[in-house]
Amino acid sequence: MIEISGLTKTFGEGQSAFTALDDVSVTIRSNEFFTLLGPSGCGKTTLLRTIAGFLDPTRGSLTLDGEDLLSKPPYQRPVNTVFQSYALFPHMTVAENIAFGLQMLNRRKAEITATVAEMLELVQMTALADRKTSQISGGQQQRVALARALAPRPKVLLLDEPLSALDFKLRKEMQLELKRLQHETGITFVFVTHDQEEALTMSDRIAVMNAGTIRQIGGPRDIYDHPAERFVADFIGDTNFLQAKILSTDGAQARVRLVSGGEIAAQTAADAPVLDDGASVTLAVRPEHAELCAPEGALLSGRLRDVVYFGTDTHYHVALDQNETFTLRRQNQPGQTQVWQTGDHVGLNIAPGIPQILKD
Ligand code: ATP
Repeated sequence: MIEISGLTKTFGEGQSAFTALDDVSVTIRSNEFFTLLGPSGCGKTTLLRTIAGFLDPTRGSLTLDGEDLLSKPPYQRPVNTVFQSYALFPHMTVAENIAFGLQMLNRRKAEITATVAEMLELVQMTALADRKTSQISGGQQQRVALARALAPRPKVLLLDEPLSALDFKLRKEMQLELKRLQHETGITFVFVTHDQEEALTMSDRIAVMNAGTIRQIGGPRDIYDHPAERFVADFIGDTNFLQAKILSTDGAQARVRLVSGGEIAAQTAADAPVLDDGASVTLAVRPEHAELCAPEGALLSGRLRDVVYFGTDTHYHVALDQNETFTLRRQNQPGQTQVWQTGDHVGLNIAPGIPQILKD
């Protein structure tokens, strides 16, 4: 278990000082695939480099299984890193690259041979063991980099955007491969990406970061279905935002009135402060969580501005009567006829409890 508490990193001093990590606290469980997700510059790499020991934090603590890591140099931490650039030795073979770290650790020869064979098997590169790494493809280099980092059996593997140099198809393949490797080795993976889809498909839990802070931590479904604040709702997936007023609250549920006058049950974020009756709030609703209907008696109504066909689904852009816009996404069925046309006056319904009340 990695425990990070109050971690702050400030680069530079005085007027030019820049805080890249601002009081970050998080517990990463052993054996989990944990992802740091956020836009460019939010501090993901800084956090990863601090765990690895390449950067000293300005403040805060960092322990692994109860043991202080900050007092140890990088090579004494049971942590290894896979870099975006792979950093392989081009003049060495695949097997020699994998063996290199083990030799540096003075492992016995027989043990090195056995581990290299096992790692080659694990990343399905046995057939190419004697090839120079300058003579293999990008995807294969990625596998070798992973095998090399896993070979010393670190407790934690740090991965900094390791798939970003791969083309789309290979990237999808390696996403599954990485998840399999994590599962088979039982090593804790801390994975950095700015790609929300990658984070949702691969992670056990995700920490969404912005401007040096962690905004929300949770499982992929939790983060997608229950974004706590606007930044998270906006950064992950598409979201509609609706203004509303609180009528009453009951634990995690609240009854709200939309600008249209319609009323609906909504969820509050787990750690949100108690909301007063009459308070103005913003609701988040995913495009696939609403449906089109006749305007009479509907929760919302408006004019259908665009109907965009995407093969697997169709997107409907509605200009609501209250000056807001709403996008719906419905899955297409074979042989289905298009009921709604651009220009139609349409209604829009949302299931009770689905809208998420965002924190300010
Ligand atoms: P990316 O996805 O683009 O790699 P990131 O989330 O990994 O972004 P970091 O590399 O952690 O971001 O950088 C966080 C912030 O700290 C950035 O604004 C960056 O410019 C700044 N920063 C990083 N290293 C230094 C440094 N050595 N000196 C000054 N500022 C730095």
